[in-house]
Amino acid sequence: MSTITNHLPTAELQALDAAHHMHPFTTNDELAAKGARIITRASGVYLTDSDGNEILDAMVSLWCVNLGYGKPEMGQVAARQMNELPYYNTFFQTSHVPAIALASKLAELAPGDLNHVFFAGSGSEANDTNLRMVRTYWAQKGQPEKSHIISRKNAYHGSSVGSGSLGGMTYIHEQGGMPIPGIHHIGQPDWWSEGGDQTPEAFGLARAQELEEKILELGAEKVAAFIGEPIQGAGGVVIPPSTYWPEIERICRKYDVLLIADEVICGFGRTGNWFGSQTVGISPDIMTIAKGLSSGYAPIGGSIVSDEIAAVMNACEFNHGYTYSGHPVCAAVALENLRIMEEEDLLGHIRNTAMPALHAALEKLGEHPLVGTVNVSGMMASLPLTPHKESRAKFASDGGTVGYMCREHCFANNLVMRHVGDRMIISPPLVITPEEIDVFAARATLALDATYKDLKDKDML
Ligand code: PMP
Repeated sequence: MSTITNHLPTAELQALDAAHHMHPFTTNDELAAKGARIITRASGVYLTDSDGNEILDAMVSLWCVNLGYGKPEMGQVAARQMNELPYYNTFFQTSHVPAIALASKLAELAPGDLNHVFFAGSGSEANDTNLRMVRTYWAQKGQPEKSHIISRKNAYHGSSVGSGSLGGMTYIHEQGGMPIPGIHHIGQPDWWSEGGDQTPEAFGLARAQELEEKILELGAEKVAAFIGEPIQGAGGVVIPPSTYWPEIERICRKYDVLLIADEVICGFGRTGNWFGSQTVGISPDIMTIAKGLSSGYAPIGGSIVSDEIAAVMNACEFNHGYTYSGHPVCAAVALENLRIMEEEDLLGHIRNTAMPALHAALEKLGEHPLVGTVNVSGMMASLPLTPHKESRAKFASDGGTVGYMCREHCFANNLVMRHVGDRMIISPPLVITPEEIDVFAARATLALDATYKDLKDKDML
C-alpha cells in the first residue's frame, strides 16, 4: 500500500476512507457512495479541503475549536510534554504536574465551591462519571435508593450507554438497549417549537415545573440528580425562557436533588462568560466539561464537583476511572488553552467585539424570509427555518429536509453551518473577527437565498 498523505488525490482518499473507516453518526454506505469531504489542514477560522477549498468553519468542528485552528503554542506545549512525561496514570497513589496544575486552575475558574475535578477523556465519559458519582454520593450518605436521575427530552449528554441514556434523543435510545433503568426525561424548554400559544415566560415555568411533578411522582427520596445543558446545543441551540433555570434550581434545592450542569458546549466562553451556568444564573453541584477545555486540540473532559460532594466521595474508594483520566499531554494542552484565553483576554474580545458583530449579523439574517427568529446566547445561535414566521409554522417535510438543503448550500458556498432538523446552527470560533463575521454572513445569505429558490422551484413554500 502506498503511503497515505494529504498529497493523494481526493478520490483515492475517499475510496480508502470508505473501505476502512466507519464514521460516527453516519450511514456509511451512503457516505461511501458520495465520498467524504477530506479536510487536509486548517488555520484560524478556515478549513482547507483536499480540493483546495477554503471553508469558514462556523461550527468549530463539533463546538470545540474555540481558539481557532493552528495556534502554534498548543503544538509546542504538547511536544514539550510528550518529551518530558508522555503518559502516566493517576490511579495508584500517584499524580503528575499537568493534572495537578489543571485541576487547580479549574478550581480557580469555576464558580462557587466547585473546587474538585475528576478527569475523563471526553464529555460522554465525564457524564458516565457523574451518573455513578451522584448515585455513590447518596449511597455513601446512607440513601442508596436516592438513585434516579431526571434529564430532558432532546438533551445531548454523549453516546456511551450511560451518557446516551442521560440524553433524551430517541433515535439514540433506539439502538443498543437504552435508556438504562433509573433515568427519566421531562419536556425541554423549547418555546419556538413547543410553546404553542403560551408566552415564553409561562412556558419556561411550566416546563421547569415538570421537574417537580416528576420528583413527586418518583418520590424525592428516590431522586439523586437533575442534569441539563444550560443551553441545549446538539438539540438545536435551545435557549430557555428566563423563567426556566431559576425555577429548576429552586425545585432541586427544595427536594435535595443534585443539580448537574452539562457545560461541555457552554463552558469556556461560549455564552460570553466562563461557564453557561453563570449566564443562566445557576449554581450547580457538578459541572461536566470537555470540548472547549482544550479547544479540541486534545481529548479531555471532566467533572468539577462541589466541596460537599468531594468531602463525601473522598471518604470512600470510588471504583471508577479511565486510563486517560488526567492524561498529562491533554492536561498540558488544556492548561495552555486556558492560559491563552486569559492572556489574549478572549472573554473581553467576545463581549466587546465578536458578540456585538455576530449578533448584528444574525439580526440581518433574521430578516430573511426563511428565518423564523434568531436564537442567540453569546457565541452560539440557531436560526429556525420556517415557511411562515408569525405562526412559527413547520415545513410539511418536517424532520430536517429543508435544514439539510440549506446545509448543502452552505457547503457549496464554503461555509460550515450545521442543521438540527430545520434549524441552522452556529457556533463560530471565539476568536473570530468582525471581518470574518462579514464573510460568514455573506456566505450564509447566499445559502439561504439558494434554499429559498429551491423551495420555490419545488413548490415547497
Ligand atoms: N454533553 C454535551 C452537552 C455535548 O454537547 C456533548 C458532545 N456534543 C457531550 C456531552 C459528549 O461529549 P463527547 O462527544 O466528548 O463524548
